[in-house]
Amino acid sequence: MKVNFLDLKAQYLSIKPEIDAAIQNVLDKTAFAAGPFVKEFEENFAKAQGAKFCVGVNSGTAALHIAFMALDIKQGDEIIVPANTFFATPESVSLTGATPVFVDNEEQFYNIDPSKIESAITPKTKAIVAVNLYGQPAQLDTIKAIAEKHNLFLIEDCAQSHLATYKGKSTGTYGIMGCFSFYPGKNLGAYGEGGAVITDNELLYKKMMALRDHGSSKKYFHDYIGHNYRLEGIQGAILNVKLKHLSSWTETRRKNAACYKQYLSGIKEVILPEEIDGAYSVYHLFVVRVPRRDALIQFLQDNGIYTGIHYPIPCHQQKAYAFLGYKEGSFPVSEKYANEIISLPMSEQVTEEEIQYVCQKISEFYR
Ligand SMILES: *Cc1c(COP(=O)(O)O)cnc(C)c1O
Repeated sequence: MKVNFLDLKAQYLSIKPEIDAAIQNVLDKTAFAAGPFVKEFEENFAKAQGAKFCVGVNSGTAALHIAFMALDIKQGDEIIVPANTFFATPESVSLTGATPVFVDNEEQFYNIDPSKIESAITPKTKAIVAVNLYGQPAQLDTIKAIAEKHNLFLIEDCAQSHLATYKGKSTGTYGIMGCFSFYPGKNLGAYGEGGAVITDNELLYKKMMALRDHGSSKKYFHDYIGHNYRLEGIQGAILNVKLKHLSSWTETRRKNAACYKQYLSGIKEVILPEEIDGAYSVYHLFVVRVPRRDALIQFLQDNGIYTGIHYPIPCHQQKAYAFLGYKEGSFPVSEKYANEIISLPMSEQVTEEEIQYVCQKISEFYR
């Protein structure tokens, strides 16, 4: 049996007539750059996420960047980010000229460790970025309270947490802004690049609408130095189609996660992901920790099973951030589990039979 890490082709085939019609419609109307299809998506996505406003942009990185720009974050400022996240989280901080300040992740839930945030705050700190990694909400109420206590902005990186909720409230709405990615492999993925920022703050919304379009809210009148970060019409139309399926796909991901947990629970070597109290996790990734991880990956691959590592090198140990002067041992939790984590095949396409096969092979490896 062959089990892909992700099967975008199968997903496309499951909704092909709707997608093809949506793309044809954009071609017929030649609404390519932002425009009505993007607007319709922004309204639908804001509603789905329980926010007032949504700004569609052309990547998750752009979403984070204009969120920071809208808050006037600049050189000399410090922004707190988790050590284990995708590189784009600190990178987008660096794009503003500000400095990312890393904080270790929690041992049990993989997100930024709230108990380690306060010691990283300095007079230069402007914001905390909570990443809802792997589709699992961070401890957003605790982190929000810390941000408020120190008069800092809370921004959420929701690139992996579409439709996830924490204590009944959507991820992305605890922070002043929530930033999403629609990279093809994300839970809601474009057929190309895409991203969005949600917010309830109308001033920030208007500023970000301008920032994505050369700092202009009226054609050829420029109030800010912005970017060309517009979401494409075709992507807006595709995302509109896929958004309709997202809650049912998310339920399937959760069922698949439950299935993995059931089949893996007997293998003592495997540490399973846990949900924090009050979380509705959306399992962008299903990450377990194991001994002899690299040998397991090879064994699974030899059996036709493709896995991933998210992420093999914590951000503070990336070459690009060598200049910040962090050392081995700076963030022991993140560093330890960089060597233990493995992401098993997870999507709404993977079947129970495939999950059973994966778990059986893992069991065989440790026997
Ligand atoms: C994917 C991702 C991003 C970046 O999104 P892009 O659309 O690839 O620019 C940022 N943060 C996290 C946590 C991500 O997973």
